[in-house]
Amino acid sequence: MTLQIAIDGPAASGKSTDAKLLAERINGLYVNTGLMYRAVAGAAYNLGIDPEKNPQELVKLLPQWTLEYRLDNDANKLELFFNDKPVDNAFLRSKEVSDVVSQVAAIPEVRDWMLQKQRDCAKLPIIIMEGRDIQTVVLPNATYKFFITASAEERARRRLKQGDFKDGTTLKEVAEQIKLRDHLDSTRAVAPLKPAADSLVINTDNMTPDEVVDKMVEHMQKNPRQ
Ligand code: C5P
Repeated sequence: MTLQIAIDGPAASGKSTDAKLLAERINGLYVNTGLMYRAVAGAAYNLGIDPEKNPQELVKLLPQWTLEYRLDNDANKLELFFNDKPVDNAFLRSKEVSDVVSQVAAIPEVRDWMLQKQRDCAKLPIIIMEGRDIQTVVLPNATYKFFITASAEERARRRLKQGDFKDGTTLKEVAEQIKLRDHLDSTRAVAPLKPAADSLVINTDNMTPDEVVDKMVEHMQKNPRQ
């Protein structure tokens, strides 16, 4: 039987750090679905496609593209490949891609295309999958569901600290980008960002990643799967 852990939450809530740390602690495999949306957004950006004005231009290319997480057995890690090439993480995290990813992720055909690929990853024995709609749509029967959140100010501070920004970027600019993405992600018609009814919501404002993971592990120990 597989152990599926679904972790969702808004942009820069720390959920990637927490999910990776949890994967290390319980020897599971980590899947970042945001990176999958970023891979498609990056391809659209490189082709000069405007996902808001011309979503169909992007949709018609989907059948030609491949996107898959491959298992690196030696490292016990999954690595994302787009059209058979490992993705460029720095580019996919850039402002250019961040600015268009939520528009790309709001296209229903893109979400449909993604769904089976994400469910396929969840067939591996211990999976920690992180995103926006994992507990509500992708893996509604996940063994454990966590919703990781933090105040907008704290999230902007964390994102700026990650350092993927051009020199001189201010906290206010980062907070605005995050708020815009949150708004798009939580108000979209398909698979909006929200916790599932049976999710444990963790506000991480005053918590270190280790403390967040302690809380998740404690919750799992108190609620052993049936
Ligand atoms: O997690 P990250 O911030 O990298 O995700 C980038 C974007 O991808 C999100 O803002 C959201 O628009 C989209 N996304 C999504 N569903 C997921 C994961 C990410 O819509 N499961």
